[in-house]
Amino acid sequence: MSEEKFDAIIVGGGLAGCSAAIVLARAGKEVLMIERGDYCGAKNMTGGRLYGHSLEKIIPNFAEKAPIERIVKKEKVSLMTADGSLDIGYHSAKLSSAPECASYTVLRSKFDRWLAAQAEEAGAEIIPGIVVDKMIVEDGKVVGVEATGEEMYADVVILADGVNSLLAQQLGMKKELEPHQVAVGAKEVIRLGEDVINQRFGLNGNEGLAWLSAGDPTEGSFGGGLLYTNKDTVSVGIVATLSDIGHSDLSVPQMLDRFMSHPSIAPYLEGGTPIEYSGHLVPEEGYGMIPELVRDGVLVAGDAAGFCVNLGFTVRGMDFAIESGRLAAEAVLKAHEAGDFSKETLSVYEKLLNESFVMRDLKQFKGFPTILTERAIFEDVPDTADKICEKLFTVNGEPTESAIMYAVNLIAQRTSARNAVDMITKIVEAF
Ligand SMILES: Cc1cc2nc3c(=O)[nH]c(=O)nc-3n(C[C@H](O)[C@H](O)[C@H](O)COP(=O)(O)OP(=O)(O)OC[C@H]3O[C@@H](n4cnc5c(N)ncnc54)[C@H](O)[C@@H]3O)c2cc1C
Repeated sequence: MSEEKFDAIIVGGGLAGCSAAIVLARAGKEVLMIERGDYCGAKNMTGGRLYGHSLEKIIPNFAEKAPIERIVKKEKVSLMTADGSLDIGYHSAKLSSAPECASYTVLRSKFDRWLAAQAEEAGAEIIPGIVVDKMIVEDGKVVGVEATGEEMYADVVILADGVNSLLAQQLGMKKELEPHQVAVGAKEVIRLGEDVINQRFGLNGNEGLAWLSAGDPTEGSFGGGLLYTNKDTVSVGIVATLSDIGHSDLSVPQMLDRFMSHPSIAPYLEGGTPIEYSGHLVPEEGYGMIPELVRDGVLVAGDAAGFCVNLGFTVRGMDFAIESGRLAAEAVLKAHEAGDFSKETLSVYEKLLNESFVMRDLKQFKGFPTILTERAIFEDVPDTADKICEKLFTVNGEPTESAIMYAVNLIAQRTSARNAVDMITKIVEAF
């Protein structure tokens, strides 16, 4: 049994854990961060885009030093059918006019490793390659963790152990995940070379593209496709809600193959070399899946707390992980000042979260997961959009029918006015 008692132990060296470790170590606290991967980032995955605002608060101008891939200056959203794609694009320098509003494509194995090094530099101790399998609870208060038989003690434990958070489940703070609360992500990283990426995607220098798609990629199942340009690779992936996977005959890897062979995607990937394949769960239910965040001696941050918002055109979990890690650390610092690590004192974490974008955004979009279970969005909307576009853009010598009347008739055939109004109302309410 270790004699040493830490000011804080952090379980999980992802973005939430590293952020908490940096803040605590900088404040002079004895921090131990335990990561099950061989190094921080070894087991971590994301689609690809980090909104930089929350890390800016911890490391101003971090992009000048961190291993970011590209700065996102092009956005693209597509509704796909088997052979067509209706694309909306936005390209603007405003997307990165200041560090707080810039977003970056990242590869977690590099990025998290760098962030962990910042925590180490600030004085945090990191033990990689071991799994925390048990929480140590005395008189109802968390006092430490057990990893591969060794007990380690601390005034507070921050659980930043990702979406499953088996440890928060073990404590009874979090229920076992339900299939509608999470999506499965599968992603391939494909090397194309920097020049090829710039030519094919119309990018200059370190400009990046974020491209999200719905419809055909998941064969109408709830979910979508993603493509992010990195320095000399692209990240291409699929996210599919677990409860709806049975809607399609395709497995998630098959959905990814289908997406990569889509006529709108395949030409961009031609000649590329796959260098990495990964899979991971994504918290999808947002506000509705937030667990108990604080108990005596313990706090939950990042994906472990379900802090993620997927709106279809933006996917955000990393900025929530960083902010919640920082706020958990702030709460621990306040508890140290008070010399009291009870739930009551640590609950300042919930107050800080409520005042931050974390809870504000989660509350703002709490109705959104319901929209993402509207079958029409993944089947009827892409197909209807495709048919209307075909009508608009086809000139073949036949008499030209009014595109507006065609659209009205098509929509009327597919849905009643009542259903259409209900859906629009739901969308308006969700936003
Ligand atoms: C396919 C996909 C696409 C996504 N796209 C985006 C995107 O584009 N933008 C965005 O902002 N977000 C995106 N997200 C969400 C984002 O990746 C997560 O919200 C973010 O990674 C959460 O960070 P975290 O530190 O809370 O958890 P994680 O990154 O999961 O870190 C948890 C860490 O804990 C470690 N760990 C777990 N259990 C233990 C244990 N018992 N002992 C020791 N260590 C343990 C793990 O190894 C891991 O390092 C995406 C997610 C997926 C899967």
